[in-house]
Amino acid sequence: MRIDLHNHTTLCNHAEGSVEQYIQEALKHEIDIFGFADHAPMDFDEKYRMRFDQMGQYEATIREAAERYRDRIDIRLGYEVDWLPGHMDPRVLEAKVDYLIASVHFLSGWGFDNPEFIGHWKEQNIDEVWQRYFDEIAAMARSGLFDIVGHLDLIKLFGHRPDRDICRLAEGALDAIAASGMALELNAAGWRKPVTEAYPSLDLLKMAHDRGIPVTFASDAHAPRQVGYRYADLLDLARSAGYDEAVSFRNRQAQMHKF
Ligand SMILES: [Zn+2]
Ligand SMILES: [Zn+2]
Repeated sequence: MRIDLHNHTTLCNHAEGSVEQYIQEALKHEIDIFGFADHAPMDFDEKYRMRFDQMGQYEATIREAAERYRDRIDIRLGYEVDWLPGHMDPRVLEAKVDYLIASVHFLSGWGFDNPEFIGHWKEQNIDEVWQRYFDEIAAMARSGLFDIVGHLDLIKLFGHRPDRDICRLAEGALDAIAASGMALELNAAGWRKPVTEAYPSLDLLKMAHDRGIPVTFASDAHAPRQVGYRYADLLDLARSAGYDEAVSFRNRQAQMHKF
């Protein structure tokens, strides 16, 4: 079973291609379960996400496509939600969708993964940034609001490496994820970033496996051509860490599949 639960649409203002084109690519890559999880609306950084008044259109478009393609591919509907206490909205948290991915893209309001604000990295203690990042992941997991952790070690994307052992920095986050019952995604987008590594690293994935954390797969496509990108390598990464099954979600309920 081939699963890919994290793909975007043009509603977030930084993706291209039609829903139709994403699904056609998924079919080409023989994906069985294909999910859209576009950036959920929020009263923060509004330029990179859909508006609240577009949620209905987004959900209807994906549900309609799911119906139309039901004999060929299993289309799921989700959101990628920013973990930002004080900004997360019940309209998103309680949306009738299959799953919610939670991602940390901001540390004290700094969009650390945005090339526009890369200069800010120079003023940072790298070890501290990494620890703060994983502390936010742990808090997100403890909230119990979400199903999937988005790109677990996104903080590495520009290649800033801490002096301290990454496994030690991430330990608390992984313990919190295990306790929460959330799944981790293996996300291919890191291969398209300066770090040229999938999220998460094999070391972190092994720690997840030790803790019994389920995994799922993510192209994190912002263009149709990115759907299924290095999917075989994602599978190898999962197998190297000891996994042979992956999770998908329907109506916020986990389902396990052999891969
Ligand atoms: Zn995006
Ligand atoms: Zn993301």
